[in-house]
Amino acid sequence: MHAAVLRTPGPIENHPLHYSEVPEPVPGLGEVAISVLACGVCRSNLHMVEGDWLPGTPAELPIIPGHEVVGRVKAVGPGVTNLTVGDRIGVQPIWATCGRCEHCISGHEQRCRQRQITGETRDGGYAEVMLAKADFACRIPDSLTDTEAAPLLCPGITAYGALKKALLRPGQNVAVFGVGGVGHLALQMAGLTGARVSAVSRSSRARALAEQLGAEGAYVPAGSEGGVALRDGSQDAAIVFAPSDRSVAEALRVIRPGGRVVLGVSQSVGVMDIGDEKTVVGTVLGTRQDMLDVLGLAVDGKLHAVHEDFPLSEANQALQRLKHGQLQGRAVLVPGA
Ligand SMILES: [Zn+2]
Ligand SMILES: [Zn+2]
Repeated sequence: MHAAVLRTPGPIENHPLHYSEVPEPVPGLGEVAISVLACGVCRSNLHMVEGDWLPGTPAELPIIPGHEVVGRVKAVGPGVTNLTVGDRIGVQPIWATCGRCEHCISGHEQRCRQRQITGETRDGGYAEVMLAKADFACRIPDSLTDTEAAPLLCPGITAYGALKKALLRPGQNVAVFGVGGVGHLALQMAGLTGARVSAVSRSSRARALAEQLGAEGAYVPAGSEGGVALRDGSQDAAIVFAPSDRSVAEALRVIRPGGRVVLGVSQSVGVMDIGDEKTVVGTVLGTRQDMLDVLGLAVDGKLHAVHEDFPLSEANQALQRLKHGQLQGRAVLVPGA
């Protein structure tokens, strides 16, 4: 089979992913092999490929990245009873968890310390075939296409986790910083809570997309030209998916005393003034139930993933466009395209 393989991390301009022929994986106990139909391109993939992601990531080299995967079951390993050949399934960043620890049994399996991450500790979806743990896959509803479903499986779940932590009430004001792969879904979900949604982005194209997707206002980051910035203290909550320390600092300023900032990117928070009793909370990934909830929103027509599709052989080019802010919504790789 063909896959975009990372052997040595490096700047994306040097095309560190090698589109090459590799042996097709065979499913083990509790696993299925899927023919990949679509795989979203995540900013975390870019970090891993360039070698500046979390310590110990990837777990080994070479590795095949990609963790927002829609595929069709091609082969079923021993012990699998919930899936059969031909089923169309989705695989999310959490490839598997231990199922026993306090996080797994309390409905927070994304925090499991033994979690396996698709495309980081196990080969992922930048490939024609990949393995998935049957218990962690979910069926993709027929009404969703491969390429619109793929971005729901990481950005959708990630946005959903952020929204749950923002604790919004109808009529409140929320600002979403960043209108990329995750932000464009987060602002749609924020609108579903009945809150008034403002989007913040440097890109005029992204601000136009935000308004098209239901944001009541689109703003530029403080100090930027080309538009108006949010007023300090004007928001009840802020959700940050823009990968910039300045966005975090601005988010903390635009929320009122007692407000909340939800951080979906790892950035410096800086010195916090305790006098305003503001809350900063991190959010990462989500559970299998979150995945079902997100797919349900899309089936109901309440959530639309905007995507740009690329052949799998052009994974480097897709990542390069992501790095330079040239994408609308999510890039999705399509094997055989
Ligand atoms: Zn992701
Ligand atoms: Zn666990």
